[in-house]
Amino acid sequence: MTCLQLFRQAGARTALLDCLDPTWSDVDWPGSKGYHTGNYPKVGLEKPGCLQRVPRQYSRYGLPQAAVSTALSRLRPLPDLVVVTSIMTYWYPGVLAAIELVRSIYPKVPIVLGGIYATLCPVHARQNAGADLIIQGPVEDESNWRRIWRLLQETPPQIPGSSHARPALDLYPEPGFSILLGSRGCPFHCAYCASDILNPGFSQRSLKEVKSDLRPEMERGVKDFAFYDDALLVKSGTWLIPLLEELVADGASIRLHTPNALHVRFLSPKVCKLLRQAGLTTVRLGLETADFSERRDRKLCGREWEEGIRNLFAAGFRSEQIGAYILFGLPGQDPEEVVQAVNFAKRYRIRPHLAHYSPIPGSRLFAEAKKYSPYPLEEEPLFQNNSIWPCFKGGFTWQAQTYWKGLVAY
Ligand code: SF4
Repeated sequence: MTCLQLFRQAGARTALLDCLDPTWSDVDWPGSKGYHTGNYPKVGLEKPGCLQRVPRQYSRYGLPQAAVSTALSRLRPLPDLVVVTSIMTYWYPGVLAAIELVRSIYPKVPIVLGGIYATLCPVHARQNAGADLIIQGPVEDESNWRRIWRLLQETPPQIPGSSHARPALDLYPEPGFSILLGSRGCPFHCAYCASDILNPGFSQRSLKEVKSDLRPEMERGVKDFAFYDDALLVKSGTWLIPLLEELVADGASIRLHTPNALHVRFLSPKVCKLLRQAGLTTVRLGLETADFSERRDRKLCGREWEEGIRNLFAAGFRSEQIGAYILFGLPGQDPEEVVQAVNFAKRYRIRPHLAHYSPIPGSRLFAEAKKYSPYPLEEEPLFQNNSIWPCFKGGFTWQAQTYWKGLVAY
């Protein structure tokens, strides 16, 4: 979406095809899980050969291929360029299928592939995706921007706007929810996380820029806003606190959600009170482990946890609004560590959520993951799928799944 916005600002006419957008009237969409999250239509697929022994269903989610094909075929005028994004590395077969479909409909139109898979697995993407150009990192990076325009055999215009492109949210006709992104990257550099690779460094937008995304969406009647920042509470004085203060002063009637974990160490009484008053409804925290002396990161200590949780409850948040992510299936991790973290969260009246580990190429923990996993993680991104528990001893089984589900029940 940010890519589209940049092209629009550069004078291009754009069209967005979001295969997870539930506003397609002719597609039977399953009910939402609440606050416009999930579920999506899915179709069961034949498992790739290398996953035959994994006892799970293999499916593709989103719009049926026929609906996508029809929409693309009807587009007039024909596009000069198709830009495909990608998310999880192990979802690449869907990306390849999308590119193949586009190619079959517009054989002469150049295709650019970007996004997370393209950034983390560029060699694999170059060898397999069938795109004319693979870009790594944000499209507003000078070199990416130039390469795209060179592909079109045009002189690149000046990159419009600031170093943070804004999402083209207005292209959604009836948005049930919207997203907010006021920063990129995270200063904590955890060894198991992709943030550092996808967005090296930590940078923030201004209050004015974030408001220019939020206000039009509020005026369109959107009630649910999810922050996508990796480090929302870092340097919160730059834009977050002033924004929350404005929302409170205006008496805005919206719900805020933080699906990416908040840093508990920054949950001061003031921040908690403002978040609560401004409408924060879904609170997710990065606990990861209860073993504070042997953590794999530097983002939290026991005292900060105690204080942060106390401040959340003192601000009026209810137990059922708060969940904590706990890392599960790390290379060499003793499952007892996970059990202890689950029980620890429950003692504080916080719902535990297992965050299943996905080995991320380029992350500092990837070398260790390769040692522990029985799968060739580097050669085949399908094995980076956290659903197969690639580094958990014994891998995924339904019996183990039942045990862990029962343990986290709250
Ligand atoms: S604190 Fe969270 S977002 Fe930041 S690097 Fe660690 S896991 Fe990633």
